[in-house]
Amino acid sequence: MSITVDDIKNTETAAVDNLSSPNAPVLQISDLTIASVSDNGKAANKLVQGVNLSIRPGEMLGLVGESGSGKSMTASAVLGLLPKSLQVTEGHIYLNDIELGSLSEKERRCLRGKEVAYIFQNYQGSFTPFLKIGKQLVEAIRSHEQVSFKEAKETALEWLHRVQLPADRVYGSYPFQLSGGQLQRASLAAALMMKPSLIIADEPTTALDVLTSEQVLDLLVRLQKETNCAVLLISHDLTHVLKRTDRMAVMYGGSLIEAGPTEIVRQNAQHPYTQLLLQARPLLTACMPEKLKTIPGDPGAVADKGCPFALRCPSRIEQCAKRPAMNSVGEIHSAACHVINGGGSDHEAAVGSQTNQQIVHS
Ligand code: SF4
Repeated sequence: MSITVDDIKNTETAAVDNLSSPNAPVLQISDLTIASVSDNGKAANKLVQGVNLSIRPGEMLGLVGESGSGKSMTASAVLGLLPKSLQVTEGHIYLNDIELGSLSEKERRCLRGKEVAYIFQNYQGSFTPFLKIGKQLVEAIRSHEQVSFKEAKETALEWLHRVQLPADRVYGSYPFQLSGGQLQRASLAAALMMKPSLIIADEPTTALDVLTSEQVLDLLVRLQKETNCAVLLISHDLTHVLKRTDRMAVMYGGSLIEAGPTEIVRQNAQHPYTQLLLQARPLLTACMPEKLKTIPGDPGAVADKGCPFALRCPSRIEQCAKRPAMNSVGEIHSAACHVINGGGSDHEAAVGSQTNQQIVHS
């Protein structure tokens, strides 16, 4: 007998009372820590540490950071798709009112695709190459819902149409017969047709050209508004995140370092890394500088102890040898940095005021 989402929700161990209101977070991650596991099964290095995130229905949260910052690993933990060498060692992940860590692999499989959908960076990997798109969509629908082939086909065609594809032709095509943009639209259809409450879009446009990327992301935003699902948009492209998300969270070296409403972070970034990231964007509205600003140090260099950004931070002080906690820097804005949390004012003179002026005018 197959397990349904409702079966999972009804299990006593999975239910969490305080998340049951209509505007309760779809996804709530609290104190998530992921570590690599040595051969003897013991947790070794912490690769993601103490991450807290939540997304409500109809909200788009952008998760930004350099390669290796822990964005995709966090998403894999939500999906229960971490490789065997990695393990969630602390914290909890709730999807609606279900604590994912309490589920069996069979129960998690039931949620994937139905309650939480994933849009891959590599759109070619979204479909099996030797099966027609239509057949794959129909199979996906029928694996989660008890509907006839005819009904499943109607749903698949309807969604191919909604993602602005020539539905009949794409339904009967093999993946290799479609362009990259068409395949990514088809994978959007595959993700949305089950009406999931959460979509994780992991660098969904990295492999597409600029124009097609814009079109695919605009489509995602439009369909999200129509379906009211929550979206976690993972991207290293700050421009996409600034343009489309309601809130953003910035990760560095496996830790969350700043989070808040996107517009507030854009105009008033507090963490040195976020400020430098914003400065490094070329702006078409400004005069072209002789040299674009870059972030000092080696990309991805993470301090073993204390603040993960300490090896590259132009504002570091003695206290940075201790790990900073995320603290409130505004009503709904928080950041993890000793300097902005009262460690000293030199930093603001050196980096903050200069950066903020540039950010406000951007
Ligand atoms: S805690 Fe220290 S090293 Fe880290 S970002 Fe703040 S000033 Fe820089």
